Amino acid sequence: MSVVESRSPQSPADVVASVPAAGAEGVAGAVRRARAAQGAWAGANAAERGAALGRAADAVAGAAGELAALVVREVGKPVTEAKGEVARAVAILRYHAQQVFDPVGAVHEPSVSGLSYTRRRPRGVAGLITPWNFPLAIPLWKAAPALAFGNAVVLKPAPQAVACALHLAELLALPDDLFQVVPGGAEEGTALVDAADVVSFTGSAAVGRKVAVAAASRGVQAQAEMGGQNAAIVLDDANLEAAAAQIAAAAFGYAGQKCTATKRVITVGNAAEVRDALAAAVSKLAVGDPSDPGTAVGPLIGQAARDRVLSAAAGGRVLAGGEALDRDGWFAAPTLVDGVPGDHVLACDEVFGPICLVQDAGSVEEALALANGVRYGLVSAVYTRDLDRALEVSGRLDTGLVKVNSPTSGVDFYLPFGGEKDSSYGPREQGKAAQEFYTSVRTVTLAPAGS
Ligand code: NAD
Repeated sequence: MSVVESRSPQSPADVVASVPAAGAEGVAGAVRRARAAQGAWAGANAAERGAALGRAADAVAGAAGELAALVVREVGKPVTEAKGEVARAVAILRYHAQQVFDPVGAVHEPSVSGLSYTRRRPRGVAGLITPWNFPLAIPLWKAAPALAFGNAVVLKPAPQAVACALHLAELLALPDDLFQVVPGGAEEGTALVDAADVVSFTGSAAVGRKVAVAAASRGVQAQAEMGGQNAAIVLDDANLEAAAAQIAAAAFGYAGQKCTATKRVITVGNAAEVRDALAAAVSKLAVGDPSDPGTAVGPLIGQAARDRVLSAAAGGRVLAGGEALDRDGWFAAPTLVDGVPGDHVLACDEVFGPICLVQDAGSVEEALALANGVRYGLVSAVYTRDLDRALEVSGRLDTGLVKVNSPTSGVDFYLPFGGEKDSSYGPREQGKAAQEFYTSVRTVTLAPAGS
């Protein structure tokens, strides 16, 4: 039996977890048990399901300190952000604990007599496949609505974050088999897509596409949230200091390892000023030990991720950073690059780490062409004091989220979340949008006897 092992990125000799992989049979067994448990859970009334989610929120809140420390240790997230993630996990659970009371259908005029109504029903077993970078929030923003509407959950977390997922399952303390974690990698992920009744995936575009195809071939609903190559456009009337501080934090906070991280800065007739303001903002970011509350930029998740950042930097003109830190762990300095050819990886793809490309446009039109001219479409930002230009640019950006004078990073759990093009497949997640995904609609026609 193979083993799933996670190691601390700031101290790779530290083995955080070492657990047996579930294997394909283990996943199939977990789905069978989940299916057996799901009927009673769906049959429980809404108040009971909400109360269980409320108790789970209390348990997560009660363990906030230890959970944040585990997130820091296992995935190298700076502690201030790790505490924020725990708080978000609690808020997600509380929100969906109340969502159980939302309407589950609508009443319509009958065609003859009686009434017609729709009623949402759970889909069954939700198979969730998640990345390592938000090891609590992403599993929960999928699991909480799935559970709220009467589904059972089988979670296949990223191997790098397996300890967080297992600890979360213990804390949630839901009825037996309702929330199971299956440790593993691609084999277990594939097995889960082959058995679940609905599939929600977050991770890279390459894997997400495979998951979507496999689910569709079984006729099973799927959503996949994938990468981003998010642009921040800085117009010439922007508040430069504020914009640069936000962009630096969005590009390099948590070492740029967020799907919503700023990956490209597009200047519009202000190339030199933006570079100066960015360099000043980047120099203020504290890089180092993620357990230090002052740290903004911790390590990358592993050696391969760091190698990819350093080799991408080598292909351009390095304005800041561009090297590994001389210390234990997978650290790289926040890296700003410009002057890359159009087919360079930074211009065409997501590099998941602390690296950001500066591109120059001569006009707003050119800036929009650069921003939209990539395969991804998750989030973009525009910095300006001019409302007309803000409205025009935000209306023409080809992304699922647009931020005006706000960082690309940061997602509100109660709003629909998702992107365009290669960033997303299927319906939006989070907030009210989640109800549609985790339920299907039954249409009932009710007529008086003998009518
Ligand atoms: P990944 O695609 O390597 O892995 C994601 C999950 O898929 C893991 O649990 C992994 O074990 C599993 N998996 C791998 N191969 C599989 C297969 N063939 N079938 C089924 N499952 C399989 O991604 P990662 O490195 O864990 O995460 C980083 C990526 O996630 C980045 O691209 C980032 O942009 C993206 N991300 C997107 C969002 C979003 O909401 N859009 C949020 C966070 C991260």
